[in-house]
Amino acid sequence: MANFNKTKSNFLKVKCIDCGNQQIIFDHAASNVQCIICGKTLVKPKGGKSEIVAQIIEVLD
Ligand SMILES: [Zn+2]
Repeated sequence: MANFNKTKSNFLKVKCIDCGNQQIIFDHAASNVQCIICGKTLVKPKGGKSEIVAQIIEVLD
């Protein structure tokens, strides 16, 4: 029952909920991605997938 993650890797444009900074992040980050302005964690790796802790503005293919 290998439900292999078929989700394509995407780049997302996100907005930091703390400072409003917008930046491009990788959806399948292997490590934490932080806001380049305030340092808030925007993406947390979570068992192969990523947990986005920011407001997603746009999905870029
Ligand atoms: Zn920020």
